[in-house]
Parts: sequence; structure tokens; C-alpha cells
Amino acid sequence: MTLEELKERFTQCGLKSFHALQVYHWLARGVVSFDEMTDLSKQLREKLAGEYYIPRADIERKYCSKLDDTVKYLFRMHDGQFVESVLMHYHHGWTICISSQVGCKMNCAFCATGKSGYARNLLPSEMLAQVQSAQADAGIRISNIVLMGMGEPLDNYENVLRFLTLVSSDEGMNIGMRHISLSTCGIVDKIYDLAEKRLQLTLSVSLHAPNDNIRSRLMPVNSRWNVEEFLKACRYYLNCTGRRISFEYALIGGVNDSSECAEELAAKLEGMLCHVNLIPVNNVKGSPFRPSTPEREQQFLRILGKAGINATVRRTLGADIDASCGQLRRRYEEEAAHV
Ligand code: SAH
Repeated sequence: MTLEELKERFTQCGLKSFHALQVYHWLARGVVSFDEMTDLSKQLREKLAGEYYIPRADIERKYCSKLDDTVKYLFRMHDGQFVESVLMHYHHGWTICISSQVGCKMNCAFCATGKSGYARNLLPSEMLAQVQSAQADAGIRISNIVLMGMGEPLDNYENVLRFLTLVSSDEGMNIGMRHISLSTCGIVDKIYDLAEKRLQLTLSVSLHAPNDNIRSRLMPVNSRWNVEEFLKACRYYLNCTGRRISFEYALIGGVNDSSECAEELAAKLEGMLCHVNLIPVNNVKGSPFRPSTPEREQQFLRILGKAGINATVRRTLGADIDASCGQLRRRYEEEAAHV
């Protein structure tokens, strides 16, 4: 709920609206029980505990990288479902990558999440709980959020929008839209809708190929909305919001990393305010895809650079702890199946 909604609910239940403000502040601080709300009377705390619950993301497993400060969490939700989040330390502060769904329906060929299927959408409160649990556990303040974990955020559109409103509100965690990125595989109708909302968030889009021939082999969503329709929607988003688009392009050896691919990509993005994030593809068990060689990677980068396209190779964090999306849940469930 927003603070206004909570106030309204409290008033309807015969409670004082200033109690709503107190409760809201405690929730924003990440308390996990009403008992911790020490400035409320015992009687009120008991009443609230009898009628409401505070959504939690309990830490089931936690892995700390020995290579960097990355922490990977496997969270257990109230119904026993698991989702993953990753906490990363950058020079500008702490960023958390959160999940928007339990599993994913999109089934991209290179992605671990899709391989273990789709269970359900996450609620806005369950997305908030991931941020708060990680923050409380690590004893740090999270300044940036990326919706790049398990799931397709635009396939859980209403809940994600509400999460964005809540997490960025002054009375809530107050993490501004400019500090939030949302990554999509290309749900084009929702990109148009989101553009109209003119939020200041960064849209990251998973392109991964310069043409339909390659992209359709990697991403089933391309048969619903092809590269041209996808890029048209990106341009619309850019025009509406004035925000630079971030293109994700996982370099896969022998699949999408040729010089021709780089040239085709550069031609398609020409003149667009954008950034291309080249990501060495992560090895996923059971997937035939391997990362490009460093030489190919550099050549790809050079071609984009020459064409005036802003591009970088994404730094790999947490390489020793299965930090990329879907890997941990899958391994955990496989282990559980074997005992
Ligand atoms: N569903 C959203 C966000 C979650 S995936 C999306 O598709 O954008 C976050 C990013 O990780 C996406 O760009 C996705 O394509 C990428 N990704 C998934 N598996 C990967 C792998 N094995 N190696 C590199 N990137 C991967």
C-alpha cells in the first residue's frame, strides 16, 4: 500500500491515521514483525499482528564471493517458493538485482531461469522484501535497484509498476527512479505503455542479436514482436522519456559475435541515444552456448565504437558463486530432488 492507502485503511478500521504513518516508517526500515514497532501500544501491535502480516523474504541460502563483495541470496517466500537476488558493490554504492517472478515464461535459449519453468508472479511487497532483507542482512544502504533477476518484469506489469511507486516514494525506501533499471526481453505493448508513464527509470532491453534470424533462435519472444518492432518501441520510449536506452547483448561464441553482426547492430542503432552492454554469456548447465573469445569481444567492441555507438563490456561480478540469474535456484532444486 501507499501511505495514503494505509491511512485510509486505518481510518476505516477506526484507527488513527498518524498510526499509519508510524507503521509505514517501520515498514520502510524493514522490520519483520509488529513487535518491533516500539512506539505503538502493545494493544495496537497485537491487533495489527492479528489482522495483518508483513511479507518477508527469508534467507534460505547465502553465498559471498571471494573475488569481490558480491552476495547472492536465495530467498524463501511465504509459500515455500524460492527467488534469487544479488547484491553488488560498485564505486557509486550498493546495487541489488531483484527477481520479479518465480521462474519465467520467456524461455530464452541461453537463460537458466527459463529452464526451471514458471511458477507465479511476485507481489510488489515481495519485491520490496528482497531489497529490505538484503539491506538488513548486509548492514548497508542500497542505493540502486535493477530488475534483472528471475522473471520478465513486463510480464508482471501491474505489480512491477506498483513496486516502483512504493520503493521510490518519499515515505518508503525513497530510492529514486533514476536509480532503478528495468530489463525486458521485449514485451513491446508494455514498452509503449511504460513510455507513456514517463518515468525516469532506465530501460534496459535484451536484444542479443542484430536480426530476426539469430534472435528468433535465441529468444521465442521474437516471434511475437520482431527486432524491427522492438527497436521501434525503444525509439518511442526514448522520445517520450528522453532517457537513454541500454541494450544488453550477450556475446555467444559463433552465434552472434561475428564482425558482420557488429556492423548490422551498429547500422540498426545508428543515431539513437543508447548504450550497448556487451555481456560475456554465462555458461549454463545443459546449454550449448559458450562465451566469445576475448579477441572477438574486443573486435565487436571496436566495430561499434568506430560506428559511434557507445558500448562497453560488462564487468563480471560474483563469477565464483553462480551469481547470474536462475543458476542458484536451479541448482538448489536439483540438489533437493536428489536427497
Ligand atoms: N526478463 C528480463 C530480465 C531478466 S534477465 C530480460 O530478459 O531482460 C537479465 C539479463 O540477463 C537479460 O538481458 C538476459 O537476457 C540476460 N541473461 C540471461 N541468461 C544469461 C546468460 N546465460 N548469460 C548472459 N546473460 C544472460
